[in-house]
Amino acid sequence: MTTGQLANVSATAALPDDALVLGMDVGGTTIKGEITDAAGTALAVGSVATPHGPAAFDAMGELGERLLAELPGPDRRRVGRAAVVLPGIVDTARSVAVFSSNVGWRDVHVGDRFPARWGVPTLIEHDVAVAGWAEWRYGAGQGYDNVCVVILGTGISGTLSVGGRLVRSGYGQVGEYGHVPVRRAGGLPCPCGNTGCVETVASGAAIARAYTRRTGREISGAAEVFALMSTDPEAAAVVADAVDALADGLVGIVHAACPELVVLGGGLAGAGAALTHPLHRALSDRLRLVPAPRVVLGHFGARAGLAGAALFARHGALT
Ligand SMILES: [Zn+2]
Repeated sequence: MTTGQLANVSATAALPDDALVLGMDVGGTTIKGEITDAAGTALAVGSVATPHGPAAFDAMGELGERLLAELPGPDRRRVGRAAVVLPGIVDTARSVAVFSSNVGWRDVHVGDRFPARWGVPTLIEHDVAVAGWAEWRYGAGQGYDNVCVVILGTGISGTLSVGGRLVRSGYGQVGEYGHVPVRRAGGLPCPCGNTGCVETVASGAAIARAYTRRTGREISGAAEVFALMSTDPEAAAVVADAVDALADGLVGIVHAACPELVVLGGGLAGAGAALTHPLHRALSDRLRLVPAPRVVLGHFGARAGLAGAALFARHGALT
């Protein structure tokens, strides 16, 4: 199979099993990329610090070139498609990275810039949409038609699948669960401009800050708070507050869409049962008319964006 033949593959058709894909996940601090086969085995892996502003797109281009150059010629010719997943607001139809407050770009036209450098068709998508889709279709949500995926990390967002379809808004955005206001009275200001959003209580950064506020002790991050829970009542109280805020933020969507399953993905999901059990209890306490969904950990953890990018490149659509 020649590169020319692969370049003619439709952007939305699944690739043949012998094709390789280039997936790239662009985060606020790091751009990660990998080239994988159909089994998900990585043949080339790399990352680079995310430059601020539109320069990030040059860094993506260079990282992709570097990964492709690591492959022997015959393997390089098997790369059938790439997918780059981006933060913020992404207009896939116009191929425009509309806005990212974290990285600092606005209205960057992606178009042919990656295919011209990499020689393969390239899809772009919203990072959370892809991460949530990957958890639903190929991770912990496999086999379920009604799934709420919550990606817990620096921020909180996720996806909702109803009746076997991923719900997308007209703006391309997906579950902004982190910005549901749940602490109106006495709530903390949120960078979004609102007060008392879920993120101000339950994000990784918020959990760490809350612990320091209560104890005066600086810690490395939310993982340390979870590790202290069994011995430190202050840590337990901070996590209980975060779980309450998460449940308050999710209870409306659970009533509206009745998901069978809530999947917790992202970096914070490393907390495991310390998070899933109390969240299931907190949701059960708040529900009267609809069954409480099961709460499980995501399969891909903090790698959901990158693994999702590769799966999206392989399958060609978020279906
Ligand atoms: Zn907010």
